[in-house]
Amino acid sequence: MVRATCGPSHQDGKMLVVRRHDSQKYSTVFSQETGFFARIEDQGTPEPSWSANGPELLDVSLTSWCDQGCSFCYRKSTTDGVHMTRDDIDWLLSEASSAGVHQIAFGGGNPNQHPDFPEIIRETRRSFNIVPSYTTNGRGLSKSVLKATAEHCGGVAVSAYPPYDQTERAIERLTDHGVQTNVHQVFAKQTIPQILDWLRDPPSWLIKSNALILLNYKPVPWDKSGFEVAAKDPRWREVIRLATAERYPFRVGFDNCCITGLLQEANAHPASIEPCDAARFSMFVSEHLEAHPCSFMAELRQGAQLKPHGLLHVWQTDPMFRQFRGHLQPSECGRQSSSPDCLGGCHLFPEINFCQCGQQKRSVLDSESDLVPLSISATQRYS
Ligand code: SF4
Repeated sequence: MVRATCGPSHQDGKMLVVRRHDSQKYSTVFSQETGFFARIEDQGTPEPSWSANGPELLDVSLTSWCDQGCSFCYRKSTTDGVHMTRDDIDWLLSEASSAGVHQIAFGGGNPNQHPDFPEIIRETRRSFNIVPSYTTNGRGLSKSVLKATAEHCGGVAVSAYPPYDQTERAIERLTDHGVQTNVHQVFAKQTIPQILDWLRDPPSWLIKSNALILLNYKPVPWDKSGFEVAAKDPRWREVIRLATAERYPFRVGFDNCCITGLLQEANAHPASIEPCDAARFSMFVSEHLEAHPCSFMAELRQGAQLKPHGLLHVWQTDPMFRQFRGHLQPSECGRQSSSPDCLGGCHLFPEINFCQCGQQKRSVLDSESDLVPLSISATQRYS
């Protein structure tokens, strides 16, 4: 059972949350103020491979509405998109709170263009004691959105799109309101020159941000952008080396999907490198309350309906989640004996892995499974 064992140092409603997970013999510490999070296993006990008590983080699509029109959008978001209803949002927040969720990362679509967005993030923080954050394309940052963001959010990520004027304006507005703002940049073969330029000579708007986060590009079947995976360009090594060797006026981070590259090239403390946490510590929930281990599965396979059984029931018993966890096993190549285990890297898109053994895996989507294809067109690449 999850149990909050202390909650000292309230500062503007922000506190240190310590939870004990007796059945799996570990504890978690989460600072609502700084975002610091640690899992501490009992002495002599192995690291937990998943959180049996419920996800620590929810990745929630508030809406599939977006007017940015990116061809590589993994959710196929357009202006025909739909918003999650208020009833569903209230139900989900209550379920998340009962399951001990610490943080919700709202996404979409462009989540801050949900008509009730300021009230939703206020409710998440104030009524359910969950720290919200969100990713925005930079549009729709109205005064009320900015005010609510500054009051209730742990941080915001702005997706970077060339020519970066929209990115720059969004960072300006958010940081002017005192919001911790990260920049999300796709890490693809085609974006490597841009990333190297930024690392060597960062533009002023990047310096103003808290962190540059590089997201390993995932080749969703419908993408017409012409992007290719970063692993196809040997300069991926230079990106990781440079990003982790130098000190910058901003932080540089990578998503967990880069683990197989980080373990080879990063100059970073092993404790700061984490493998994929889909279905282990995080869950994706769509605007229709459909759950998947990873958001990139949402348009490829049918999800698990959270209603009526509830979030915890799905997390603990749904075959898709159990099967996904089964794939994330310790790697067989054994080359990283003193490093954290990569758990085989990404099991959805093996081609994004930066090592041969990772690339040679079969996708979870290809394997004999209980995963139900969504449609022929979405899955033809994997059939
Ligand atoms: S399944 Fe793959 S794409 Fe999804 S979070 Fe894990 S590593 Fe990233």
